[in-house]
Amino acid sequence: MKTYPIPMVPGPVVVPDAIRKVYLDAYGSGDLEPEFVELYTRTQRRLKTIFNTRDDIVIMTGEGMLALWSALKSCLVPGDRVLTVATGVFGYGIGEMAQSLGADVKTVGFSYDETINDMARIEAAIAEFKPRMITAVHCETPSGTLNPLEELGRLKNAYQIPLFYVDTVAGAGGVPVLADDWHIDLCLGGAQKCLSAPPEMSFLSVSPKAWEIIDAVGYVGYDALNPFRQAVENRYFPYTPNWQGVAALYVAAGLLLDEGLENSFNRHDRVASRCRQRLVEMGIDLFPAAGAVPSPTVTAAKIPQGLTWETWDRRLRDAGLVVAGSYGPLAGKVFRLGHMGTQADPDLVDQALDVIAGAL
Ligand SMILES: *Cc1c(COP(=O)(O)O)cnc(C)c1O
Repeated sequence: MKTYPIPMVPGPVVVPDAIRKVYLDAYGSGDLEPEFVELYTRTQRRLKTIFNTRDDIVIMTGEGMLALWSALKSCLVPGDRVLTVATGVFGYGIGEMAQSLGADVKTVGFSYDETINDMARIEAAIAEFKPRMITAVHCETPSGTLNPLEELGRLKNAYQIPLFYVDTVAGAGGVPVLADDWHIDLCLGGAQKCLSAPPEMSFLSVSPKAWEIIDAVGYVGYDALNPFRQAVENRYFPYTPNWQGVAALYVAAGLLLDEGLENSFNRHDRVASRCRQRLVEMGIDLFPAAGAVPSPTVTAAKIPQGLTWETWDRRLRDAGLVVAGSYGPLAGKVFRLGHMGTQADPDLVDQALDVIAGAL
């Protein structure tokens, strides 16, 4: 298998040794053992700290997309009104996912290089449409942007909208997430971004209001949230608990909390500023528009003039650096450096930028 000395993909990121070790060594029979329940509840507690929430945390086996689908399928019935505030691939995508479930979706859309602004337009849409759920994406990874959510949360609360659904898969751990202060009911995270764990676990906070709705909807399926409500109390999980995955997440969250969340946020900020500054000095255009908030966890920039993504990617790989392209309307135009989790490392990012400078 080919490995690259300078990995800069925005997830899955490089898994540090301490997490690899516990992942390989964790062993148990899951639901039969009190030790698993203990591990699970301790992991829940750590994730609550990262989300700044008192709400329940559900930890599931499956990538980030599992949490995205699970929360929609567990909370929505056909005809439910969903207001999607979208600034990129995931934002618009969540609207399409809700629509595929029969929801009545209205989108307040921004262009892919923008972050949430024009609160008056959003407020008017909330007042007129009276949605059951508002959806938003915190870090819009394909665009390298970070949406401010405080104001949106304030509107959700002021208009007494039942559910606020937020995808912070690529934000949690690298930037502040204030799930309770921002009135988030379903706050979605993944293991393989800023937490630097293997790409197989996802987690979300579930507010009391969300549990009430989940119970009333009664969705049944492999990805259903309902069976998790009493899982700890009843010591009965909907499928064989994944010791390895939960143990990895436990250690990953512990590493972040040992570092200190503020220190982690500062590390991500510093690395991201340096990355953007050096790209601009080289004459590479950043993708986010002036006025948009760039994400501290991932930088999106325009592929240098006259080069295709394939040529650019090949050049960088030949020099040992792997970056990511992008998706949807950004495919072939944008490349991305994922400085999140273990990869928010000043030396690693400098090596990556040296390769980029040499490849121009
Ligand atoms: C990575 C990511 C996800 C989850 O995607 P997976 O393919 O399941 O890893 C969801 N939302 C955002 C914003 C992400 O960056």
